[in-house]
Amino acid sequence: MKPSIVLPDGTAVPALGQGTWTLGERSARRATEIDALRLGVSLGMTLIDTAEMYGEGKTEELVGEALDGLRDEVFLVSKVYPFNASRKGVIQACERSLERLRTDRIDLYLLHWRGEEPLAQTVAGFEALQQAGKIRYWGVSNFDTDDMQELFATPGGARCATNQVLYNLSRRGPEFDLLPWQREHRMPIMAYSPLEQSRLPARGALASIADAHGCTAMQVALAWVLSRPGVIAIPKAGRPEHVRENAGAGDIVLSAEELQALDQAFAPPKRKRPLEML
Ligand code: NAP
Repeated sequence: MKPSIVLPDGTAVPALGQGTWTLGERSARRATEIDALRLGVSLGMTLIDTAEMYGEGKTEELVGEALDGLRDEVFLVSKVYPFNASRKGVIQACERSLERLRTDRIDLYLLHWRGEEPLAQTVAGFEALQQAGKIRYWGVSNFDTDDMQELFATPGGARCATNQVLYNLSRRGPEFDLLPWQREHRMPIMAYSPLEQSRLPARGALASIADAHGCTAMQVALAWVLSRPGVIAIPKAGRPEHVRENAGAGDIVLSAEELQALDQAFAPPKRKRPLEML
């Protein structure tokens, strides 16, 4: 298991976590999904990413139930809707999330994407929550480089802990400018949809590397994300067998030749591409 990634203040967090989008939306799958999340924690994937948006609160409720007795082992991430991102709105949304998550604190609270609220308002809300001990860190999501620059020019904005963005083998745009900018500011990125929602081609370079390692193409795709410096990956798996595979990907080390073959199959960007979102 890849050990950890360091936040700007030096705190270490797991490099490999678990996403939760769509968990809790289908009652027939609920028990399996809870087992899957708990299994992931037991296998070391102790960073859990959720959001008030997911299932309109149902996912946070499932996460709260799954973390019964495990809360202190987990670095818990949630997100606020942009339309709740005024100073007061952020505080109220966080209170609701805390209740659904059955906890007294969120470790990292993110603005889900940029909306109409001025960034200064959102930052002020995050700071108030931090002072009250309800969140430990705050950050953003789906911010392109110019958004990050604007955030850093906002009072308190440079205290952002991370930016969660779409990043995987088939979405390498952030490598052109966003990743270098964040590295310069010693701020990790959190890669969402690291498996491209399981749509990556399970043939060609991915398949042959997988054969060589005796693993699956999805594990290679995840190992590639984890091989990037300063990147946290949050694959989502509602099935225990996928959770086991994902945890195993943390132990796969890709050779220089394999990384080169992946560069050929999934070319890195040669020019700026606007940040993509799912
Ligand atoms: P993802 O993690 O790339 O892919 C999830 C899909 O891949 C699910 O269908 C899952 O199936 C399947 N899967 C998982 N492990 C697998 C494996 N080892 N082999 C084959 N298939 C596997 O996509 P995602 O859920 O979009 O992204 C991950 C997390 O990032 C989300 O859950 C969410 O927490 C976060 N996210 C954030 C944003 C944002 O705007 N900030 C946007 C999108 C996602 P099963 O569930 O059936 O196991």
